[in-house]
Amino acid sequence: MDAKSIDRGAIAHDLKEMALKRGRFLQANALIQPILSRPKQAGLKKVAANYGFKLNIGYSIEIISADDKYLFNYFSGAFNNNDLKKGAENLPKFISDPRFTDRISRLSGRAVYHKKFTVKVAKSLEHLRRLGYPAQGFISRMHSFCGKVNRELAQGKGVIILGIPREGEIATLGDMEYILAHEIFHLLLFKNGIYFEGIDKKYAPYDEGLAILLGHSYMCTEHRLDKKRNKNEEFRRAYWWKNNLAYLTGKERAEKIKKVHLKMSRE
Ligand SMILES: [Zn+2]
Repeated sequence: MDAKSIDRGAIAHDLKEMALKRGRFLQANALIQPILSRPKQAGLKKVAANYGFKLNIGYSIEIISADDKYLFNYFSGAFNNNDLKKGAENLPKFISDPRFTDRISRLSGRAVYHKKFTVKVAKSLEHLRRLGYPAQGFISRMHSFCGKVNRELAQGKGVIILGIPREGEIATLGDMEYILAHEIFHLLLFKNGIYFEGIDKKYAPYDEGLAILLGHSYMCTEHRLDKKRNKNEEFRRAYWWKNNLAYLTGKERAEKIKKVHLKMSRE
């Protein structure tokens, strides 16, 4: 795939696409509103308390297209994009990679709690510009999106990015609710100093496992983790957390999580 065909393809935005996107975003917004109403906040608070935490975080929700969201992730260093210059050069390769193509038809979330991610995206965009990348629309859209995220972060808020697929079913209310809860718990854990990935990237499944467990707890579907535990490393870790934290009080659970975190940071 050459750069020109990328421009016409997934990333390109003509007016028709924008109109389509707008319609889907309105649909997504309509789904989100009932989730954010008071009883749901109470549900989030209850789960946080069950794990010994206070739901004391502020966040905003940003809705973008699923392909923009995965490109944001890629440019911020995900998918092993460790060398941002090479990452920009490899963009055509990445957007034909199954890690991208298999994901863009699904609803997904991302929690951003630190400026380091948007700084990386801005650097990547600069590399794209230098490479003469033709999708100027994409570059300026990403720039203004990063600016928006930075403004929220500067106010001490976390940002939850929801990636909406351009085609197909958006999602069920339940899917959207789970994803939001999952990302809110990521922010909550980070605010409470629990960030295994910050100790070493290889420990990221510990963060993911906790967010999966708390998200399932919020949806009252914890029992499903027994069956899902072989899905991937993250679900295996969620199952591990579930067993390790069972039969403990909220306070004891938070203490146990902090203890594991401390142990890892000393290794
Ligand atoms: Zn997660």
